Amino acid sequence: MKKHIVTCVKCGRQFDANEGGAYYPESRRYVCKRCVDKQKSEQADREKARKAEERKAEADERERVTGMRQSKAAMLVKIVVGVLFLFAAVSLAVQGNISSFVCGLVIGGALVAWGLVPYLKAKSGRR
Ligand SMILES: [Zn+2]
Repeated sequence: MKKHIVTCVKCGRQFDANEGGAYYPESRRYVCKRCVDKQKSEQADREKARKAEERKAEADERERVTGMRQSKAAMLVKIVVGVLFLFAAVSLAVQGNISSFVCGLVIGGALVAWGLVPYLKAKSGRR
């Protein structure tokens, strides 16, 4: 392909238009691939920041309404998984595997507490 050397409007670098980059027909200008990529990653970063901001706003709103930052679904998952661990721990204890029983008890208890404590706090705080 014939070389088509153009100048990047952003960084002033000369590059071959066939290598990639972007062409803006309305201004008849070129932007090199490097600047396009940079722009894209900046856009992605902005998007990520916006999403994080949205999630935070959601959690704030949830905290205002329910008194907890976690959603009901997240709370239930933690509690259910925690309870499963507790059941597993009990069946291990029945088999005489006491160290695994303690381990399961700690993990299950921690999970249940993680889900339940903010909920209970929120409940008692609102009374
Ligand atoms: Zn450039």
